[in-house]
Amino acid sequence: MAVRITNIQHFSLDDGPRIRTTVFLKGCNLACPWCCNPENISFEIENYVHDNQEESFGYDISLDDLEKEILKDEVFYTENNGGVTFSGGEPLLQIRELKPLLKSLRSKNINICFETSLSVPSDLLEIAIEYIDEIFIDMKILDKEEAKNVLNLDVDSYYKNLEIINSSEIDKNRITFRIPLNNEYTLKDDNVKNILKCIEKYSDFNVEIFKTHNLAESKYESLNQDFTNFSAVDDNELNEIFEKIKELNSDVKIISL
Ligand code: SF4
Repeated sequence: MAVRITNIQHFSLDDGPRIRTTVFLKGCNLACPWCCNPENISFEIENYVHDNQEESFGYDISLDDLEKEILKDEVFYTENNGGVTFSGGEPLLQIRELKPLLKSLRSKNINICFETSLSVPSDLLEIAIEYIDEIFIDMKILDKEEAKNVLNLDVDSYYKNLEIINSSEIDKNRITFRIPLNNEYTLKDDNVKNILKCIEKYSDFNVEIFKTHNLAESKYESLNQDFTNFSAVDDNELNEIFEKIKELNSDVKIISL
């Protein structure tokens, strides 16, 4: 059994509690205009030539080889209580292939984290649920029509999946909403209202907010894709949304990604 990935990042500090080994699964069914990992969106292995240099994004790796790579960092899991994070792309889209690896990691008591948009059929989420120790859930655009048009996100499935997570055994302290902030989409008034409503409903979950950035421009160039330049969110806007969320949930943090 194999999975398709773009990268394995050792010693990662932004992808879950303590020191993580992050596996970036290739393939995503959304198209966020601010995506900073565009090389993870296509399910295909991509090869390009730039200035006579070949660049390749994505490769298939057997579960055995992936586990060997993950276990190189075992010392961080045992001595530091770190773990493994599956990110992407959308990692839940390869959950059937990943399952034997998750079973093996669980048998070794290795902490497992997922970073997900929750834009997946619920049966895929149900497969993952029993292996999730920590989960980061994107919250982006929540108006049905705009979410479909801009992101390709089905908001009804998103809410359905949130309910599945909420009623699961996952410790609520280990569930975190991650909200990317930009003036063009997520900080629009109506979207902020929807975001606040959702945060209020799931007030036991943690919340992290961050400004989207334009640092991935060269990746888009490498992939021969158009890049959208986003205006910068200023600190006043950041603090304003932070305070609004804080009124509903004191476990809100500002992070940079
Ligand atoms: S869900 Fe994540 S990986 Fe997929 S397009 Fe959006 S930002 Fe990129």
